[in-house]
Amino acid sequence: ADRAAHVRTLIRDVPDYPSPGILFRDITPLLADATALSDVVAGFAAVAAGLGRIDLVAGMEARGFLFGAPLATTLGVGFLPLRKAGKLPPPVERAEYALEYGTAAMELRSGTLPAGARVLLVDDVLATGGTAAAAADLVRRGGGEVAGLAFLLELEALHGRKRLEGHEVTTLLRVG
Ligand code: IMP
Repeated sequence: ADRAAHVRTLIRDVPDYPSPGILFRDITPLLADATALSDVVAGFAAVAAGLGRIDLVAGMEARGFLFGAPLATTLGVGFLPLRKAGKLPPPVERAEYALEYGTAAMELRSGTLPAGARVLLVDDVLATGGTAAAAADLVRRGGGEVAGLAFLLELEALHGRKRLEGHEVTTLLRVG
């Protein structure tokens, strides 16, 4: 419990970033702390242990990479980057999703996901759930099965879980 509290103190609230009225949760201090970083990866590994067989870990760009790759090596599986549009060479699968203004897209390199592979998706923050819903879509469209989604921090007020109904969603920490 003390160590969870330690992790929590290393997530800083930054008011009015990246725009006025937004309270941004910054995990940079946590990443710089050896104990907190390894505790978070161990926390994700404990989540994975409850999800049955996991064949791959997928991380959402960019902070999902920071936890997803060490989690994959901990579990002894490979890692799949789900990237913002235009970063991966073709061929790619693509999922578009709505932002507050306009749309964004996420891409997965075709052929990196074996048919039927059970994938654990990882990111730092669950906010509205739009990013994670698109990521889950992408994995399914690529022929994989979503074993579950795991996040470091859930912003409960934004009800991201509702967008992910039907999936196993686990968060290590929650704030109202
Ligand atoms: P959503 O699509 O609204 O759930 O937003 C989640 C995505 O935005 C994740 O990839 C997060 O990394 C990022 N994100 C949203 N809010 C925050 C925040 O307060 N701190 C860090 N990342 C955030």
